[in-house]
Amino acid sequence: MLVKVAIDLALDRLFIYAVPVELEKELAVGQLLSVPFGWRTARGYAFSILTGEEARQEEQNLKLKPILAIVDKSPFFSTALLQLAKEIAAYTVSPLESVLKAAIPAAVVKPNARPRERIYVDPVPDKDPAALTARQQWLYAQLLRLDGGWLGPLCTELKTTTASLRNLAAAGFATIAPRQQRRDPLRCGRILPSHALALNAEQAAALRTILSDDPRPVLLHGITGSGKTEVYLQAIAAELDRGRGAIVMVPEISLTPQTVQRFVSRFGDRIAVLHSALSDGERYDEWHRIRSGEARVAVGPRSAVFAPVRNLGLIVVDEEHETSYKQEESPRYHARDVAVLRGRLEGARVVLGSATPSLESWVNAKKGKYVLATMSRRAGNATLPRVQIVDMNTPQDRGKIFSQDLLQAIQRRLDNGEQTILFLNRRGYSRSVTCENCGYTLSCEACDLPYTYHRADNCLRCHICGRWIPVPAVCPQCHAKALTYKGIGTQRAEAALQACFKRARILRMDADSTSRKHSHDDILGAFRRHEADILVGTQMIAKGLDFPNVTLVGVLNADSSLNMPDFRAAERTYQLLAQVSGRAGRAALPGDALIQTYSPEEPALVFAARGDYAAFAEQELAARKEGFFPPYCHLAALNLRCKDAALVSAWATMYAQSLAKVSGLTAGEAVPSALEKADEWYRWQIILRAVHPGIICKAWRWLREVRPAPKELKVALDMDARTLV
Ligand SMILES: [Zn+2]
Ligand SMILES: [Zn+2]
Repeated sequence: MLVKVAIDLALDRLFIYAVPVELEKELAVGQLLSVPFGWRTARGYAFSILTGEEARQEEQNLKLKPILAIVDKSPFFSTALLQLAKEIAAYTVSPLESVLKAAIPAAVVKPNARPRERIYVDPVPDKDPAALTARQQWLYAQLLRLDGGWLGPLCTELKTTTASLRNLAAAGFATIAPRQQRRDPLRCGRILPSHALALNAEQAAALRTILSDDPRPVLLHGITGSGKTEVYLQAIAAELDRGRGAIVMVPEISLTPQTVQRFVSRFGDRIAVLHSALSDGERYDEWHRIRSGEARVAVGPRSAVFAPVRNLGLIVVDEEHETSYKQEESPRYHARDVAVLRGRLEGARVVLGSATPSLESWVNAKKGKYVLATMSRRAGNATLPRVQIVDMNTPQDRGKIFSQDLLQAIQRRLDNGEQTILFLNRRGYSRSVTCENCGYTLSCEACDLPYTYHRADNCLRCHICGRWIPVPAVCPQCHAKALTYKGIGTQRAEAALQACFKRARILRMDADSTSRKHSHDDILGAFRRHEADILVGTQMIAKGLDFPNVTLVGVLNADSSLNMPDFRAAERTYQLLAQVSGRAGRAALPGDALIQTYSPEEPALVFAARGDYAAFAEQELAARKEGFFPPYCHLAALNLRCKDAALVSAWATMYAQSLAKVSGLTAGEAVPSALEKADEWYRWQIILRAVHPGIICKAWRWLREVRPAPKELKVALDMDARTLV
């Protein structure tokens, strides 16, 4: 018998080993093995087992070394998970070992990782205590009452000593032995159990769709506050009743204690939580509780898609449009797509939930690849905010940070003792050049996308096709000398606001003000306690926050999001505005949202103000089709980096020229990154587009084979890239 082993060395190949006869019976696919490698020992996963003729042939070809040991008899990967890893490796063009590595928390496979053991005292029931001393009789009775406990805490609670308990054990009335103690990440005290809430008609219909026999993924399109979580909870409960398990994926930023508590209060110990804030020990225990089947539901961010849940019945991807589901380092998988793939491999139902679905998922629903379930009403009494678009192209507002309408609206809130949130899109990543006078943004005519400003050579480049122009001196539209690549900063907005409202209490939240640990929570806590009237902040305040006293939300510069040099700019603006305006009026008080812009006709703004996602999607999809952008093609970025500027530019140019000749592939010119030099590395990028992703994978595999890059040049393909800078 032979075994193919994936060793964690990123060599992108499997190694064959012989299996000693005494291990043949115990060996299983997915186990962690210890194997000789060169002159040292390495660890790897059993990927497949070769027997019979296949094994005999391999044995003749090679002089095979035997594996040394099986590190853990229970497999780390099921056959289905190994198959999943193989498909991800092929799709992302990354080594299989790197996918396997990403699929298991590092804390679980560390050589010294083990469960925590503590001494436990267990009473032996039904013994006659007549022969004991009065004190011992009392201790025995207490042990029975408490049903035992951990030695240390027990001594404290019963005001006794280890020696007394050991005497009791020696007399046969208790056992004292080490036992595994779970490092519980939710030790925040007792969480009260909750019960299923009554569903409204839309929620009930969505639940029926999820639990039907139709195997297609469900796209659950539900507006903010429509009660998606309750639908997830009841779908999971139904799966548990059928004896199946579930995975719930949540963006890391929304994985707050409140979110986790909702799941724990419904399912108690059957939940395991996997997220980055856990200690190594906690992560080890939670993962093992899932693998052993003790926990049936895994909740976590994107890596939870690999959780070894047994008999998987359901995968929920909440906020499926979130960019944090895409891993930005190798393997560059998209957890939503992996969820759909895993669901298919394991026969599990997949639910993708969002108020503003990604256009990729929306098109799949329109085509019938996914089933669409819609929830268009807010649960409970909350009403949707009134959204107003403020045109900044008026003599009184032009060039100002705050329009007259917004200032008046803020004043009314101050008078009524209500709160306001002002939202400022951060410019750091946008890097487009805009006219401060008329709002015009310089764009590539061929791609109809804003140019990206490159400080190093003071020029504007299109990152899709590679075209470039020098920065003009005046605005091509209004001829004012007002072109800028800098936006308004939160500090400037805060100062200007204070000047308008001398006595208002203002809090600011941005990367600077939250660099101190906990200050994020401190600021939000203070605002929640109404210690401030106005909160000014960046993207961070857009998500998952719920303040009952906030009745006004202002978006200061919707344009800076619209004008990002990214073909998803309109989609992201729509998502952002839906999220931001969802902050206003979530409780009993009705809310207003004001959106300031120089482009009041932009469909993303108009449809966001109306809350008409379907109309926005239809319009935006037509534009994507026209421009040959996803979801009508797959778009990948080939990223090159090197410490030698000349070397990387020469290779990027040569690669781009070679790729341009591949039929079925649209390759742009090589473009230096807007952040041309970051930490000593020069970065270049080539954008590749094709209808079928396989064409991109195949072209890149071919190219790196015929023109392998020198060692000092790092090249990585980012399939379905989310960020183009
Ligand atoms: Zn202008
Ligand atoms: Zn272009």
